[in-house]
Amino acid sequence: MITFLSGGTGTPKLIRGARRYLDDSAITVVVNTAEDLWISGGHLSPDIDTLLYLFSGRLNTGTWWGIVDDTFLTHDELLLMGVDEYIGIGDRDRAVQIARGELLKSGCTLTEATRILSERMGITAAVLPMTDQQVATLIRTGDRVIHYQEYWVKHRGSLPIDEVIRYSPTGPSATGQVLSAIESSDMVIIGPSNPVTSILPVLECDGIIPALMDAFVIAVSPFIGDAPVSGPAAALMRARGLSPDSRSTAALYRDIIDLFVQDIRDPVDVPGSVRLDTLMTGEEQSASLAQALLSMRG
Ligand code: GDP
Repeated sequence: MITFLSGGTGTPKLIRGARRYLDDSAITVVVNTAEDLWISGGHLSPDIDTLLYLFSGRLNTGTWWGIVDDTFLTHDELLLMGVDEYIGIGDRDRAVQIARGELLKSGCTLTEATRILSERMGITAAVLPMTDQQVATLIRTGDRVIHYQEYWVKHRGSLPIDEVIRYSPTGPSATGQVLSAIESSDMVIIGPSNPVTSILPVLECDGIIPALMDAFVIAVSPFIGDAPVSGPAAALMRARGLSPDSRSTAALYRDIIDLFVQDIRDPVDVPGSVRLDTLMTGEEQSASLAQALLSMRG
C-alpha cells in the first residue's frame, strides 16, 4: 500500500503517473479538505473531487479540476439570475456536489460520503478526507477575512495576504481510517502540493505527525528556485514568513520525512536531497517521476 498526501494539482499529477505501476486498490490518498465550501446548495470539496474524477477517468486534466467536457448551463443561468457563484461549477460536477451535500445532510461523515461516492463511481483506490471536522483556510487581507476560494478563484490571487488563518471550530483530528492507512503503508509520498494550503492542513490534523514519524516518508518539492511550478504558493509561503523555495519546504517537513526530492533544475541547495526531473508536463513525465519515487521504497 502506498499513501499520498494530496492537494488538487501537483500530487494528482504524480498519482496519474503512479497508476501505471500500482493497482488503484493499492493506493490511498489522504486529501486536504481545508478548501471545502458549501456553495449553491452543494458541498464543494475541490481536492477530493479532483481525485474522484482522476480515479474514475473523467478529470479535466487541462485544468486539474472538474469533469472533462462538462457543460455550464446551470452556472450560466445562476449568474443570469443574479447569484454570485464565483466558482464556475460544471453541470455534472454540480451533481456530485449536490449528492455529497445530501449525504452530509443525512448524517454521513465526509469520509462515509466520499466512500459512497467512490463506490458509485467504481473507484477502488481509497480516497480519504484528512478529517471529518470542519476546517477552512481563510485569508486576511486588510480588514477583511475571506475564504481561500474567494481569494484564489474570485479575486484570482490578486489581493495582498496579511495572514493565512486556519479555522476549525472543533478540531481538527485525523480520522481513524487515515491513521491506519498510514500505519499499513509501505511508503507515504507527500506530492508536490502547495505546502501552506494543501499539505500543512493535513499535517495539522491531530495524530498525523506521530503516524508519519513512524512511516517511511518521501516529499517532493513544488518549487523550482524561488517560484512554484504553478499557483499562488509563493505569496502564501511569504505570508507565513517563509521563503518560497525547496529549502523552506524541506524545513517545514523536516520532522517527518526520510527523503526530500527537488527538481534537477532547482538552483536552491537542500543538503541531502535527491534530485529528479519533477516537471510533470505530461503523463510520461508523471510516470517517470512516480517510478523513480516508488523504487525508493525502504
Ligand atoms: P491545489 O490544491 O490546486 O493548490 O493543488 P496542489 O496543492 O496539489 O498543487 C499545487 C502545487 O503543485 C503548486 O505549488 C505547484 O508548484 C505544484 N506543481 C504543479 N505541477 C507541478 C509539477 O509538474 N512539478 C512540481 N514539482 N510541482 C508542480
